[in-house]
Formats: sequence, C-alpha cells, structure tokens
Amino acid sequence: MDLSKPSCVICKKTDEEEPGLKKYTSRTSLLKAAERRRSLVSDKFSVATNAINAAEPSTDLFYHSKCHSQYCAVKRKATDDNTVYCYTICKQKHKATV
Ligand SMILES: [Zn+2]
Repeated sequence: MDLSKPSCVICKKTDEEEPGLKKYTSRTSLLKAAERRRSLVSDKFSVATNAINAAEPSTDLFYHSKCHSQYCAVKRKATDDNTVYCYTICKQKHKATV
C-alpha cells in the first residue's frame, strides 16, 4: 500500500493493485451506508466506516465500483441471529449468512 497514491477508501488498494479506481463526485450514498454501518454490532468494513466518517469534506475519496456496492449493501440484523434482511440489493427479506 502506497499512501502517496489515491487508494480505495473501502479496500485500501491503489489503482495499480486493483484497476478501476474512481473518485466520488457525490458522497451521499456512501455517507448513508456509513451511517447505517455505524449502528451495526459488527461491521466487516469498520476500518472503512471509520475512515469515511473521519474524512474531511474537502478530501477526495476514491472507490472501486464493486467495493462501493458491497459497502452499500448493508444487511440489517433481524431478531433471529442467523437471519438478515437484504437491504439494498433485492429489498426482499430472506435468509443470508453474515
Ligand atoms: Zn476497492
């Protein structure tokens, strides 16, 4: 990881390590996902969530499309520990593995 180069705010890889890096022109959906993730008991993207919440509005944030869609697919915890609701992908309630 080279800190002097732009890297994906989610996976931390640079464009060289993982081609296809893009710059966020709008952070609205990213911040919404980060907000939802902050309320999760466990967030596998907790490092990214902290980085996003700590980022200054003037700082450029970069992402990969696949990372962004994974990040924004926040699963909501249901009463049954093994059941989560698919929040953004299909909007259906179904069983899934966290
Ligand atoms: Zn990435």
